[in-house]
Amino acid sequence: MRAHYLRMLASTAAILLTLPIVASAKPPAPAVNADRLNAHLAALSRFGTNPEGGVSRVAYSDFDVAGRAYVTQLMKDAGLTVRVDAAGNLIGRLEGRNPKLPAIVLGSHTDSVPSGGNYDGDVGVLGAIEVAQRLHEAGVALRHPLEIVNFTDEEGSMIGSLAIVGHIKPGTLDQVSHSGKTVRDGVRAVGGDPEQLPTAQRRAGELAAYVELHIEQGAILEESKIDIGVVEGIVGIRRWDVTVHGFANHAGTTPMNRRHDALVSASDFVLAVSRVATTLPGRQVATVGVIKAEPGAPNVIPGKVTMTLEIRDLDEAKMQQVFDAIRSKAGEIATARETPIDLVEIPLGIEPAPTHEAVRQIVATAAKSLGLSSKFMPSGAAHDAQHMTYLAPTGMIFVPSIGGISHSPKEYTAPEAVANGANVLLRTVLAIDGGALGPADVH
Ligand SMILES: [Zn+2]
Repeated sequence: MRAHYLRMLASTAAILLTLPIVASAKPPAPAVNADRLNAHLAALSRFGTNPEGGVSRVAYSDFDVAGRAYVTQLMKDAGLTVRVDAAGNLIGRLEGRNPKLPAIVLGSHTDSVPSGGNYDGDVGVLGAIEVAQRLHEAGVALRHPLEIVNFTDEEGSMIGSLAIVGHIKPGTLDQVSHSGKTVRDGVRAVGGDPEQLPTAQRRAGELAAYVELHIEQGAILEESKIDIGVVEGIVGIRRWDVTVHGFANHAGTTPMNRRHDALVSASDFVLAVSRVATTLPGRQVATVGVIKAEPGAPNVIPGKVTMTLEIRDLDEAKMQQVFDAIRSKAGEIATARETPIDLVEIPLGIEPAPTHEAVRQIVATAAKSLGLSSKFMPSGAAHDAQHMTYLAPTGMIFVPSIGGISHSPKEYTAPEAVANGANVLLRTVLAIDGGALGPADVH
């Protein structure tokens, strides 16, 4: 007991002796104003408050327009010059000391799903504005320009980030959004110009890096008591229509050994999907999310079942490996039960989008320098960052979602966690501005 006490005294003395030396060697980096940031989050949540305590601020709605006006004012207060591009992206910019350097870009979104929460997207936009404001107040002038992008319609068409990278698909403007407006009319409602979309596109050399702070939307960080997720990438998604062909027949008169029951085969298939995804090493996920048996009567053996199969992973080859194993199992089930199974892929074009290795390291180092624990992890949800990987070295910072809940009014991230994420973002910006990405960021 006494020895332990003495050791504690000794280590405390060592810390006391060390601290002033470290402090005098280098002034501490500025930290975000946590109270102000969380007050801004609370204020933004009043635009589109729903009865359950979250927000319904779908893109292009009156609440979205009002929320964006509030964000515009915050950007101006932080010393940013604000513009809206043709895709409706709200962009705040702070010039750097060296006008020849490309911009360090931060961003996320303030639109929500219907009956959404107060953190998805908002933490990233308001966290980035807080970073700009702190730098402004601390008199830190970056070498690079700093841009903050509030992307248009992340929860729907993702038109904002797609326009910036020049990947708009035909028909996107005609899609009907959650607001009831077409994307075309919606983009106009938020100040964009759908006829001039190509002008929103940015060139690769214009961006030094893109970094997005976001809530995890899963429970990994909270369950493992980790402060910061260093995102390795946004997973790719592949989807198939699955059809099992059986034979519909009388459920009373057909003996069990003479049946070609499509639903029994489909049940085997669902279990096989789960087994394959669970057994193979890795973090891949595979899901049967829709199932329909026909003709769908209690007294008829199902003659046909249609299902969906979805596979997600960060690695294209792994997704193929999972699919190959599932297809092989499907073949065995089809043969054993004499019920052919067709698998037809629905082309989605959602490839895995890995983040930039050097940006991951910078984020991890930033977390460590703040005394925060961190963990490398994939993002299973879509983000604007997945498009930005085509344009710039990209990184994402995750903070814990309590209970892993999101896209729900119950979505919650603790105020300290929000501040932790913003502080990691701040240090990440400073490191990139200081040249941590190497000479490639100098154009
Ligand atoms: Zn989001």
